[in-house]
Amino acid sequence: MIQITINGQDIEVEEDTSLMTILRKEGIAIPSLCYHPALSHPIASCKLCAVEIMNTDAGAPGKIKLACTLKAQTGLVVETDTEAVRQARTTAINHLLSLAPQSEILLQIAERFQLPTTPAPDGCIRCRLCVQICKEIVGANALRTSRINDRTFVVPDPGNCIGCGTCVNICPTKAIRIEDKDNVRTISIRDEIIGRHPLLRCEGCGAMFTTPRFLDHVHSRSTEHHPDVKEQHLYCPSCAKLIRRSIGAL
Ligand code: SF4
Repeated sequence: MIQITINGQDIEVEEDTSLMTILRKEGIAIPSLCYHPALSHPIASCKLCAVEIMNTDAGAPGKIKLACTLKAQTGLVVETDTEAVRQARTTAINHLLSLAPQSEILLQIAERFQLPTTPAPDGCIRCRLCVQICKEIVGANALRTSRINDRTFVVPDPGNCIGCGTCVNICPTKAIRIEDKDNVRTISIRDEIIGRHPLLRCEGCGAMFTTPRFLDHVHSRSTEHHPDVKEQHLYCPSCAKLIRRSIGAL
């Protein structure tokens, strides 16, 4: 038997025992996903089981090692909850979350060991095309960018969306979604609602096709220049085309 020190406590262990086994036996919390005692060698890929091996020279910095690969040696001094350990585990958990953002076990580990996580990818490449198109072409100003926890996000300006769907069509990565369901149109990004609008029926074919706010917006912007347009906006694009053809406009 040899003596090692974990978190200031001296304990007797068999030489060459895996530190992971010792920590688990002692009931010391240690995150790990890829370690399995049935395997002959640790895989050491998740890197969550980082611990700090303290240098016995006073004031000298410790070294971050993985508990799964360490074996007990005489005089080993280990800390499992230092700032350096937390930093190493934070790096590891965020790397794993970038590979598996939907993983519940990763989020549970982050919460249990209080590891700050970066937000999951939301499909948005921050090109700001949606923000500009909504401002310059639609004229609704319903989207903007915002810094949250040192990262830029596209966020809604509440109450401004008219439900036209232009941002959905223009988004190159399909990060903004549109859903027409139960006579309601919902425009959203991540789990945030940009706009929710009742849908109106086309006066020609009866299909649900647009929102009242979009119609009001178009009327206010176009009647001055195109007197015929006002009537035709009560029809879906297919019916409006037929009408224009019947009056010889096409
Ligand atoms: S659906 Fe809303 S946010 Fe998108 S372009 Fe139209 S007004 Fe702007």
